[in-house]
Amino acid sequence: MTPKCVDIWSKTLSIVKEHISQQTFVTWFEPIKAINFSNNQLTVQIPSQFFYEFIEKHYSELIERSLQQLLGENAEIIYSVVMNNKNEVLGSRQNELISQTAPLSPDIYLNDRYYATQLNARYTFENFVEGPNNQFARAAALAVSKSPGKTTFNPLVIYGGVGLGKTHLIQAVGNSILKNNGTTHKIFYISSEKFTVEFIDAIKHNRAQEFSMNYRNIDVLLVDDIQFFTNKERTQEEFFHTFNTLHQNQKQIVLTSDRPPKELKGIEERLISRFQWGLVVDIQPPDFETRMAILQKKAEENDLKLPQEIIELFATNITSNIRELEGSLIRLMAKSSLQGEDVTIDLAKAVLKDLSLGNRRNLSIEEIQRIVCDHYKIPEDMIRAKNRKKEIALARQISMYLSKTMTTHSLKTIGLHFGGRDHSTVIHAIQTIEQLKKTDKTIKEDLSALQRKIELASL
Ligand code: ADP
Ligand code: MG
Repeated sequence: MTPKCVDIWSKTLSIVKEHISQQTFVTWFEPIKAINFSNNQLTVQIPSQFFYEFIEKHYSELIERSLQQLLGENAEIIYSVVMNNKNEVLGSRQNELISQTAPLSPDIYLNDRYYATQLNARYTFENFVEGPNNQFARAAALAVSKSPGKTTFNPLVIYGGVGLGKTHLIQAVGNSILKNNGTTHKIFYISSEKFTVEFIDAIKHNRAQEFSMNYRNIDVLLVDDIQFFTNKERTQEEFFHTFNTLHQNQKQIVLTSDRPPKELKGIEERLISRFQWGLVVDIQPPDFETRMAILQKKAEENDLKLPQEIIELFATNITSNIRELEGSLIRLMAKSSLQGEDVTIDLAKAVLKDLSLGNRRNLSIEEIQRIVCDHYKIPEDMIRAKNRKKEIALARQISMYLSKTMTTHSLKTIGLHFGGRDHSTVIHAIQTIEQLKKTDKTIKEDLSALQRKIELASL
C-alpha cells in the first residue's frame, strides 16, 4: 500500500501540474518527496537549499493552494531541506534565507550554542573543493580547526579576491570546531563591518564595556573581511585590545581580507603587524580542473544531472570567481524551468551570454518600485507623488538607489520615473542611502533582501 503522505502529495501534484509546464514540473517538482503526513500537515523533502529558495519564491503559493484544494483550508505544507544528508524542517511560511540558520546535525546544532556562533552551517570542509589554488589555505585552516589556539598559526589570515572561498573557509573552521569542541569552545563569527556597526551601537547606548567583555570571552574569534576596518579609528582601537587579550590567552583568531595585510591602507601599523604574527595565506583563482570539480560537486549537491559538455563550457568561460560559477548553474536551471526548455548546450550558451553581457534583463524602474513598495507595504503611486511622509520618502530613495545600482538607466531617466524629479534629487537619494547603509542595520538588511528579490525577478 502507498503511504498516505505519498498519495496526498501525488494528488496535490496533479493539481499543480495543470498550472505549469512539463519542463517546470520535471525540474522542480519531481525531485520533491513526501515524507510524512499528520495533523493535516504534509511534510515534503526538498533536495537542497537552492531548490527550497526557488520553490519558496515561485511556487510555494501554488503548492499551498493545491494542497488546500484537496484537504481544506487548514492543511499546511512543511518543507524539509536536505542539508548534508540531515534534514532541516522549516515552517511553511519561513521566508528567511534558510542557509542563515540551517543546523547541520540536530543533536549538536539544535541548541542555543549553535545560534550564538552566527555561523552558517552550509560552509564545511567536506564541501570545500581542494585545488592548487587553495591547498595551502585549506591545510592551514584545517590545522587550526583541529587544535584551535595551539598552533603557531595565530592569527591565521586568509586573503584573496572576491568569490574565491574566504568566507567558506573561515566558516568551515568555525563549523568544524563547533562539531568537535562545541561544548568547550565559545566560537563567534562576524564580519568586520558588522563588528563596526555593533561597536558604534554599543557606544551609543553606553554599552561599550559590555561589548568589550563579550568579545574578550571568546575562544575562537572569526572576523571576515577585515578590509572594512579601514579608517574606522575607534573600532580599530577596540579590535586591537580584543586581539591582544585573546592572543595573550592563546585563543584562536582567524581573519580574512581581500588583500595581504601589509597592503591594507588606513589600518594602524600596530594592527597590521599583529595580523602578521601568525600565518598569512592566500587563495588564488581556481584552475580549469578545480573549476570542473567545483561545478561537478555543486551539481551533485543540487541533484542536477548535467552533461559533461555543459560543465566544461562553464568551467572554460567563467574563470575568476567561484560565486559566478555557482550562479551559472542556478541560472541554467532557472532559465530552463521558466522558459520551459530542456537543459541543452545552447541554453547553457545563452546563460553564458547573459552573464557576460554584464548580466540579466534590465528590470524596469516600475518593477523595482513595485518590489520596494511591496516590501514596505505602501501604495505604489505614493512614491511617484509629492508625498513627504518619512516612510514614503525613504522607500522612494531606496527605489532610486536600487534603480541606479541594479539597472543601466541614467539619473535623468530615473528621476522622470519618480514623478519628474531632476537628476540632482536622484544623486541626493543615492548618497543618503549609501550613508544609511553604513550606519543603519535595518536599512542594510532591507537593502540586501530587496536586492535578492530584484535579482530573482530579473532572471
Ligand atoms: P569570498 O568570501 O572569498 O568572496 P565565498 O567564500 O563567499 O567567497 O565563496 C563564494 C561561493 O563559492 C560560496 O558559495 C562558496 O561556497 C563557493 N566556493 C568557494 N570556494 C569553493 C571551493 N573550493 N569549493 C566549493 N565551493 C566553493
Ligand atoms: Mg566573503
